[in-house]
Amino acid sequence: MDNEMILIIIMGAALLIWVIFCVFFMLHRILKSAMRSEFKARVQCEKCGTVFDASAKEAMRISMTKTKSTTITRVQGAALVNRPDYISYAKKFYCKNCGKKTFGQVLNLEEIRTGLKAPVTREALKGLAMMIIGGLAIIIVMQIPMGIARMEKEKEIEQMKQQQLEQIREQYWSR
Ligand SMILES: [Zn+2]
Repeated sequence: MDNEMILIIIMGAALLIWVIFCVFFMLHRILKSAMRSEFKARVQCEKCGTVFDASAKEAMRISMTKTKSTTITRVQGAALVNRPDYISYAKKFYCKNCGKKTFGQVLNLEEIRTGLKAPVTREALKGLAMMIIGGLAIIIVMQIPMGIARMEKEKEIEQMKQQQLEQIREQYWSR
């Protein structure tokens, strides 16, 4: 394996690591901005029916969730439009009335979703821009050692040609 090949592999690995890093950074920023937001999730306990408020932080925390995808049929103009949508989102919350963690339905899901759309889109675009700029930077910087490797390879080939030429010359003269 020659140097150029090794450098291409290094560049590929660097790009891959960069993309993974960007995705994690993006997710982290999205979660952080969602937690910072003042959203209150209105939760209804599935057991006793009590409605209470939960912080966005609590609603975002990853734990057991139940989502049910249901198709809503809506009249749009003259046509019936089927729109698949998540209308139910339940998650384990602490219910004061029951005194323990129970499944609670998030009632204002649509409101939370529209409210989070702008910050999520902003963070996603930022992450994407970072990914592209960093990726291009890696490719540009790697052109330098790759160029050197290519030049060295050409020099080697040139030297080999020179040697062959000398050998031929020697053979010719020794005859
Ligand atoms: Zn309850």
